[in-house]
Amino acid sequence: MYLKDSKIIVIKIGSSLLIDDNKKVRKKWLSEFAKDIKTLKKQNKKVIIVSSGAIAMGCKKLNLNKKNLKLDKSQAVASIGQIELMNLFSETFVKSKVNISQILLTLEDTEQRRRALNAKRTFDNLFQLDFVPIINENDSIATSEIKYGDNDRLASRVAQISGADSLILLSDVDGLYTQNPKIYKNAKLLKVIKNIDKEIEKIATKSISQHGTGGMKTKIDAAKICQLSGCQMAIANGLLIRPIKKIIEENNCTWFLPKISKLDARKKWIISSISPKGKLIIDDGAKQALSNGKSLLAAGIKKVFGKFGKGDHIKVLDKQNYECARGLSSFSSDEILKIMGHHSKEIEKLLGYVAKSEVIHKDDMVEI
Ligand code: GLU
Repeated sequence: MYLKDSKIIVIKIGSSLLIDDNKKVRKKWLSEFAKDIKTLKKQNKKVIIVSSGAIAMGCKKLNLNKKNLKLDKSQAVASIGQIELMNLFSETFVKSKVNISQILLTLEDTEQRRRALNAKRTFDNLFQLDFVPIINENDSIATSEIKYGDNDRLASRVAQISGADSLILLSDVDGLYTQNPKIYKNAKLLKVIKNIDKEIEKIATKSISQHGTGGMKTKIDAAKICQLSGCQMAIANGLLIRPIKKIIEENNCTWFLPKISKLDARKKWIISSISPKGKLIIDDGAKQALSNGKSLLAAGIKKVFGKFGKGDHIKVLDKQNYECARGLSSFSSDEILKIMGHHSKEIEKLLGYVAKSEVIHKDDMVEI
């Protein structure tokens, strides 16, 4: 259960795991963490890391105190610290032979479907190239109104978009307790949470005021997003050496179980909200391919209706005008007009630039 069967895993690490209270970088911890990632990769798992620490690293470099920073100053500090953060990852992970890349996201990148779809493609391509994306919020650009502000919720959106099976929030506590364990000796670690009810919310809110960290509330928000994305989520102690190994071996953490399956979540995401912007009529061969779980290729498209852009939600109809699928188009309607009926190999020549070979990728399509 849990991590063993997860194919895509998102791991979020907080600033306090990278830099201790004396502003010392926890190099040993990070190099052991890199070994955890290497082990996961050897098991053929795809890993995405969401790491905080840009502001903390910037403050360290400039010898500033994080608490006294105003927003505009902290944006500059994050810009300085982000490169320090990535240098740290790069020099540490190379020793474990783990390739890394950097992605900085803003709120709109995860909330707007088209941009989210682009982000997903980038994750997939990085997986294929055998790189581990390391994500942070683009703190230097995001202003307070359009900011996540915390990487817990950002990580849960990343988990949702990437189709992750598990999200692990590495924190400085073992998980969610019935009461504050620092005060109450008989506080119990909640190991599995199926439902985030009022009782759980109350514990989480309490833990904020008692620790003064503001930590649990955003983690519970993240868990809610995961529950509806078909992704299981853990809050686990990241201060330990080899935290992922510890989770696998000891499982001394809190797991939130998803409410729906991952596939259902993705289907819901594709079908939901906005109305389709256009339609494609496809031939019988393409229809057969779709029912075998294949992607929709340009060759099988007969007609295009409507004006839509890349990433837009469109309907797929057969020759008899019956709707057989819905999905997110990888091309605009203008582009499809140029490439329909043609073999995927010809797309580059027809459009004059390199593009995807599928008009609707199978992961972005729901059969009706
Ligand atoms: N994005 C912020 C940073 O890298 C951290 C946000 C958080 O602590 O969750 O400094």
